[in-house]
Amino acid sequence: VIRIAGITKSFGSHQVLKGIDLAVGKGEVVAIIGPSGSGKTTLLRCINFLEEYDGGSVRIDGVEVGYKDTADGRRRRSDRELARIRVEAAMVFQQFNLFPHLTAAQNVMLGLVKSRGKSKGEARQIAEKWLTRVGLAAKFDALPSQLSGGQQQRVGITRAVAMEPKVLLLDEITSALDPELVGEVLAVVQELAAEGRTMILVTHEMAFAREVADRVVFTDQGRIVIDAPPATVFDDQPNERLRSFLSRFA
Ligand code: ATP
Repeated sequence: VIRIAGITKSFGSHQVLKGIDLAVGKGEVVAIIGPSGSGKTTLLRCINFLEEYDGGSVRIDGVEVGYKDTADGRRRRSDRELARIRVEAAMVFQQFNLFPHLTAAQNVMLGLVKSRGKSKGEARQIAEKWLTRVGLAAKFDALPSQLSGGQQQRVGITRAVAMEPKVLLLDEITSALDPELVGEVLAVVQELAAEGRTMILVTHEMAFAREVADRVVFTDQGRIVIDAPPATVFDDQPNERLRSFLSRFA
């Protein structure tokens, strides 16, 4: 589904991604772990071109996300093309990023109407179905400010997954939550993984990565150091930098 080849990205003189290659197949769940500042969030944001990469390519089912090739080099896609492609790689954010003036249901409906061409009626039905599934049947018409962090994040996940994207991108989605609210959000992700949805998630929850991921990718200083099944990463720890990183969670 996703093929990332040789992605590089700098902020000023600081090269944050130094050539990243990653392929994710349909139904696979890939967890990205690594030290703070190693480029995990930047990598995730490059996949749907929220962050413009400098070199390399990201393809979703063969379609280059951010650029189109022309004879005179690559050209950035128009906002309209980009919006169409971006729908296939829906992101869930650490800070939820819900529209504060829209209700839970309206937050979920917006993309369905604007980007998937659903009627308001259809979008409302889909939103209600999904919100019910994540335990928010009583909250369709609540504003984000009337919801707990865990509830807001369940709306955030719902908004992404209701679009039926080819891949879900989850960026440290429990980092802003009080510890007692983390479980309810991870349970939703676990269910989505179990039904075979393709996901790439950046996480600091090692136990969760181990449980939910098919592959764990360890990044350090802008490079992928290890890309292996959870048992290899967490049990064998076949690398000194990985061992040092994991020892902080012991
Ligand atoms: P964390 O686990 O702390 O979220 P991370 O691995 O996700 O870290 P990134 O957020 O990708 O790391 O950031 C990588 C580096 O890029 C950091 O040094 C950060 O300061 C820098 N960086 C990220 N975004 C920007 C930006 N918009 N402008 C300048 N520097 C940035």
